[in-house]
Amino acid sequence: MFALDGLEYDLVVKWKLKHLLQRKYGKMDLGEEYYHKVKDEKVPYTPIIWTSFITGLPPEKHNVRSIWTYGRVLDFIRKLPVISWIKNKRKILYRLGILEPKIVSKENLKVKTIFDVIKPSIAIRMMAYNEDTEQWRKLSKAMLFEGLKKYEELLWEDYRKREKELFDNLCRDWKLLAVYFRIADAMGHIHFVKRPHVLRRVYRRLDTLVYKVKKRLDEKPIILIVSDHGMEAAPDGTGTHSRHAFWSINIDTDWEPKKITDFFPQIVRWCSE
Ligand SMILES: [Zn+2]
Repeated sequence: MFALDGLEYDLVVKWKLKHLLQRKYGKMDLGEEYYHKVKDEKVPYTPIIWTSFITGLPPEKHNVRSIWTYGRVLDFIRKLPVISWIKNKRKILYRLGILEPKIVSKENLKVKTIFDVIKPSIAIRMMAYNEDTEQWRKLSKAMLFEGLKKYEELLWEDYRKREKELFDNLCRDWKLLAVYFRIADAMGHIHFVKRPHVLRRVYRRLDTLVYKVKKRLDEKPIILIVSDHGMEAAPDGTGTHSRHAFWSINIDTDWEPKKITDFFPQIVRWCSE
């Protein structure tokens, strides 16, 4: 399972990325319950969506919104130095959802996740489960104080780490293997409007990754690719979250997800077949 944060359906289709599109694919609208509000902006919020994905529960049942996001993020932002040149960057970081002092993880969740239900399972840096908080602190520091070049370098370094971990784990024994990549989201925020060609490189890299993984696997498992939301232009010239998610699978099936919580029971079904 590939969890590709911020992968935009419209771009995958426009750029005809056949390994990401797979046999069956679609666009899924996100309900209001997955948004958070930043002044005039209302955007789908990454930790809320992935928590619903891995628990199969709507936001009001897992409470990630009220406990971990709202209050703390706003407090934290208020404490940041108000310097106009970083205003946009702060906004981007906020949209990325990485300004929290702590990212929600399995220790904070009081409910079972898909990784508790399916055994053996492997979760590689899954958002809302075991994502590397330290890495995101490094990234936000780089964006605020060391410039975009450094930020992008760190993002690619992070990408390669995840890719390596994925390949290292492929041959192990698992029923469910899930890997989370943040790069399409992180690059989308800074390049979507002004440098789409840079973003296209990111998408192509992810497309190639899916191809390489398929080639490496001896058996033919079900491959599910999911995003939590897509990306669209924001009035300030950056990218912001679009209100629909992407999904694709490599098998013929009548099943189609209508909402983010539909994946959990279906993945359990697939894994027990
Ligand atoms: Zn996201």
